[in-house]
Amino acid sequence: MKQRMVMVISTLLDPSLLIADEITSALDVSTQRAVAETLVSFRDHGFVKSMLVITHDVSILYQTADTILVMYAGKLAEKAPTKTIIEQPRHPYTTMLISSLPEVGVRYANKKLSGIPGSPPSLLNPPTGCRFRARCPLAFDKCLEEPPFIRIAPDHSVACWKVDGSDA
Ligand code: SF4
Repeated sequence: MKQRMVMVISTLLDPSLLIADEITSALDVSTQRAVAETLVSFRDHGFVKSMLVITHDVSILYQTADTILVMYAGKLAEKAPTKTIIEQPRHPYTTMLISSLPEVGVRYANKKLSGIPGSPPSLLNPPTGCRFRARCPLAFDKCLEEPPFIRIAPDHSVACWKVDGSDA
């Protein structure tokens, strides 16, 4: 209830941009849903013009966001409309992130969840090149250089040497 009160108060000055940073952390699942519904109602009623939702919870983005920007270790990995990120991710990190999520109606016995092996790098001394390199199953020599964030479609950009931007 406190969280929802803070959310309502945050709209009182008619903000152009509402930044919701880890707004569902430490909440139970049903409360997370209520918070997500509140964000959607803010948007649908025009109480805020734009929202930036920062979260580790992909499901809340699926419910609230038009566009998702995926970051890894402080760098942009992928940007695309929400449906594209969920259904047709191109960056290896995004792909592994989405495939690690449970699906409604699918039993563990039929499909084991796989996480992403390894850990994120220290940001005090980040690695050169692609920061996902140590965990990426597609990594090759070129990944020692930092990949550019390139447009591969009018509304889809990716930072990965394995993704071809020739169709943009
Ligand atoms: S640039 Fe290389 S290491 Fe980074 S995500 Fe692409 S293939 Fe993997």
